Amino acid sequence: TRPAIPFLDLITPHAELQPELTAAFQEALASAAFVGGPAVENFEREFAAFCDARFCVGVANGTAALRFALAAAGVAPGDTVLTVPNTFIATTEAITQVGAVPEFVDIEEQTYNIDPVKLREHLLTQCIWDSNSGRRISRRTGRPVTAVAPVHLYGQMADMDAILEIAAEHRLLVVEDACQAHGAEYFSRKDNAWKKAGSVGRAAAFSFYPGKNLGACGEAGAVTTQDENIAQKIRMARDHGQAKKYYHDMEGDNGRLDAIQAGILRIKLRHLADWNERRRECGARYRELLAPLGKNIVLPIEPLWSRGVYHLYVIRHADREALQAHLAAGGVGTAIHYPIPRHLQKAYKGLGYAKGDFPVSEKVAPEILSLPMFAQLRPDQQERVAEGLFAFSRRKQPSSALSSTYAAAGD
Ligand SMILES: *Cc1c(COP(=O)(O)O)cnc(C)c1O
Repeated sequence: TRPAIPFLDLITPHAELQPELTAAFQEALASAAFVGGPAVENFEREFAAFCDARFCVGVANGTAALRFALAAAGVAPGDTVLTVPNTFIATTEAITQVGAVPEFVDIEEQTYNIDPVKLREHLLTQCIWDSNSGRRISRRTGRPVTAVAPVHLYGQMADMDAILEIAAEHRLLVVEDACQAHGAEYFSRKDNAWKKAGSVGRAAAFSFYPGKNLGACGEAGAVTTQDENIAQKIRMARDHGQAKKYYHDMEGDNGRLDAIQAGILRIKLRHLADWNERRRECGARYRELLAPLGKNIVLPIEPLWSRGVYHLYVIRHADREALQAHLAAGGVGTAIHYPIPRHLQKAYKGLGYAKGDFPVSEKVAPEILSLPMFAQLRPDQQERVAEGLFAFSRRKQPSSALSSTYAAAGD
């Protein structure tokens, strides 16, 4: 049974748009253009415009988008690519799939995104300078570090000015994992302008998995870039390396976006700015409602340079498991993004990391909890979520149950 207040409501937005979505499906049936065709090209043009990017190439899903973006930007087999331990596994899967090795840099505690100070420190202390290639070589892997993949986690962009500056100093390609950040903005102090996710790196990957801010009714993804050459490479790669049917310049993949999904995405894209705005309003309302909980709970922080799109609303609490169970008992659905950092996952045992290697990621992983967040979330539902949190805090004895430093400080 669904909780009274679900973590994510995917039914309501589809009910609201049902006639339009059905029409897109019927159009595909009538034309039998199922793969490629005008729906895909139109969506690509419209999504590129939405992201302030010159090009968009629709692909099969977000993981494929990351893989194509990394390869087309120039990551080669044997390279090392830097990213964070606190992300969805697709980020590191895509790095491995292009033949590179992921290497981690810890996150900032306030934004949960890659920490530029640690990124620079990592390049200077964990990598050696190779004057022949003009590259940093990772001490861990013995391989050249050629790229960094910042993840705009939970809908908030990473500190891109700093990352781009460090990347330029150390000749790194920057490929954005924007799979949670459709429409997120970053104020570049360097350019004195707001920049959209997907417009600042060499290339950026988006996922349109149904639960994302812009979601298909199935699997879909896209790469955005300002570089025509990268866009062209991905158009080839997603279609078996052919520019012309059955003339293959290279081996590629079957990684195309299908036309029914593109048609559906075109319709939803018209609502995305409004949905993101409603998510931001929900974020502001949570902040107001939950502020009286004080230091017993850590709320999301939005730096002045960030306009996030609240893909997730992630709080922290020292007694996360009990809080989650308490909320569930009261009919409030929650989720955890993500319970175990990448470097401690069984899948990455081979990378040789150990507990203690990334203290911030490890500190927050057992405390984070994603509250209900979606554009159609109502104020009365948010009030009930807040009541659940208040009831929990009244039930607990804060000083005995809370262990971490910020929580023990009390209020
Ligand atoms: C969803 C997601 C992906 C992968 O997208 P899929 O479409 O599921 O393949 C990659 N990175 C992050 C951070 C994501 O949230």
